[in-house]
Amino acid sequence: MKLEGKRIFVTGGAGFIGSELCAKLLEKGNEVTCFDNFSSGNEEFIAGIRSNPKFTVVKGDMLKVRELRNALRGCETVIHLAANPDVRLGQSDTNVHFEQNVVATYNLLEAMKSQKKKELVFASSSVVYGVAKVMPTPEDYGPLLPVSLYGASKLACEALISAYADNFKMTAVMMRYANVIGRHAHGVTRDFKKKLEANPAELEILGDGTQTKSYLHLSDCVSGTILAAEKTESGVEPYNLGSEDRLNVRTIADIVSGEMGLSNVNYKFTGKQAWAGDIKVMLLSVEKIKKLGWKPTLNSEQAVRKAVREMLGKE
Ligand code: NAD
Repeated sequence: MKLEGKRIFVTGGAGFIGSELCAKLLEKGNEVTCFDNFSSGNEEFIAGIRSNPKFTVVKGDMLKVRELRNALRGCETVIHLAANPDVRLGQSDTNVHFEQNVVATYNLLEAMKSQKKKELVFASSSVVYGVAKVMPTPEDYGPLLPVSLYGASKLACEALISAYADNFKMTAVMMRYANVIGRHAHGVTRDFKKKLEANPAELEILGDGTQTKSYLHLSDCVSGTILAAEKTESGVEPYNLGSEDRLNVRTIADIVSGEMGLSNVNYKFTGKQAWAGDIKVMLLSVEKIKKLGWKPTLNSEQAVRKAVREMLGKE
């Protein structure tokens, strides 16, 4: 699908990943409609593109079908990022990911079907693999047995997208992201910064610090997403997107405290598992997207350090 000179509908376009993606799509000469309910999206993230005449912001909710359908009219290609991405929330609220991710995606697919939209890019996640026995995990790994409700919701979305694409002749790209980090990332780096600002002497680390995962910088995430979409002409294609190595959580704590100028921080670990549904080891095979010509410009450690420095206003 071509992503130049198009009218592109970006759900969740005011979020962490969405705002950067909107900026890049505008740079490529597209018209972009950002559809977002601002539940975690932020005007600050899109401040730099707000006055671009090719950028439209619609404050709307994926669960309000009429709002969604009205905003979608006139757009050609859809990039669907809106979701509740808080993995841990599934433990206390078993409904949120079903509604915000699965029902929202169903609403979008129905709207696309009725308006005969044919191109969709979806923000999926590495968590669809569950606790994978093959590392690095390729796209054709199975069975897919997620261990979080968030992961289950992303897999359900992929299943719906696959079937709609087949039945209603759509082209769909499903991006299975590793942990994406950058200036406005939520998650471990922000969590550590907040805790260290409150108490620079001590840092609570969820789990035992040995969780090792792949971290991808936002800039590489956006370039990979655009490339995968542009190289996919038809059918349904899942693509992993991550860096090619892993980093443990203890090292992330060292990077955050070091960049904050703190030494001798006392780390307090909470136990073996960080939270129910956490995946301790994650590394995605990115061979498929590398064959298209993409590769990460930063490894996990470089990506985390850059994101932390950006978050602290040093870059
Ligand atoms: P984010 O929370 O910053 O962005 C999600 C955006 O969707 C927000 O702007 C939010 O306001 C909007 N939104 C949520 N529910 C909505 C609704 N009902 N109607 C309209 N807008 C709604 O999160 P992000 O990190 O930018 O993630 C973007 C996508 O990528 C999500 O689908 C997420 O699951 C996926 N993903 C993210 C990561 C990561 O590490 N950040 C990893 C894997 C997958």
